[in-house]
Amino acid sequence: MEMWLKEMQIKDAAMTYKVKETLVRKKTKYQDLAILDTEAFGRMLVLDGIIQTSINDEFVYHEMITHIPLFTHPNPKKILVVGGGDGGAIREILKHPGVEKAVLCEIDEDVVNECKKYLPEISHALDDSRCEVFIGDGIKYVMEHKNEFDIIIVDSTDPFNNAEGLFGGNFYKDISNALTIDGIFIAQTETPFFLPETVKQVYQDAKSIFKVTKLFMAAIPTYPGGYWSFTIGSKKYDPTQVDIAKIPDMNTRYYTPELHKACFVLPKYVKDVIGEK
Ligand code: SAM
Repeated sequence: MEMWLKEMQIKDAAMTYKVKETLVRKKTKYQDLAILDTEAFGRMLVLDGIIQTSINDEFVYHEMITHIPLFTHPNPKKILVVGGGDGGAIREILKHPGVEKAVLCEIDEDVVNECKKYLPEISHALDDSRCEVFIGDGIKYVMEHKNEFDIIIVDSTDPFNNAEGLFGGNFYKDISNALTIDGIFIAQTETPFFLPETVKQVYQDAKSIFKVTKLFMAAIPTYPGGYWSFTIGSKKYDPTQVDIAKIPDMNTRYYTPELHKACFVLPKYVKDVIGEK
């Protein structure tokens, strides 16, 4: 019998993936967790029926959510990842030799443990001595830290349930307080094609708090809507003004210095969504 995962992209559209094997399926304290081995994308983490990451295309998302802010900041030493329990963002952050500490604040311990077991290619850096894994709510963690992180990365699930508060203006104010004086914030901010209102609201909230706010895009095959958006809020440095000639070589598959500039060039419909010319 053939098994297929059907992921609802929106209420009236879905994508399907042929499943070779269910490696784990459980109800955690916070969500329905599955790690599936699929024909087209290899092993993937699925939370509440939504694909989080897959072995075959995770590099796009994890490289873009990390290297854009880390190559924008001249000297990032201490980084916080909120969510991101698969460890992919931490793996990319720790490719930067200047980083002294990367903290992962993930609410669901089961995500970390199952990803360590079934997705070691993505999660292996969670055991690095420069990484600290803290299990708890990112909203509370950020509120309790002041002037501490050079970069905060919000690598969250979609804006529902536990992650809803990770998309609001109040959270971004707390993030600004937890950042150092020249700190940078970045978040995955959903699909402008299917969720324009979310993208617009996040962008406007960030813009009301940070000196520089920019949106960039990447095409991630398992994420809906063609293009995926990321929003950066920065207290000082403009990610579009980075001297790309100075970016050192790094072992990546998607991110390049040229792309660091090009990803900020937005299609007209996306500019319209965020109200920029
Ligand atoms: N790349 C992914 C995406 O966009 O689909 C995100 C992956 S990562 C697995 C998302 C993580 O955020 C989940 O493991 C979830 O448990 C965690 N999360 C959700 N709400 C959270 C909160 N309030 N604090 C900390 N982690 C949270």
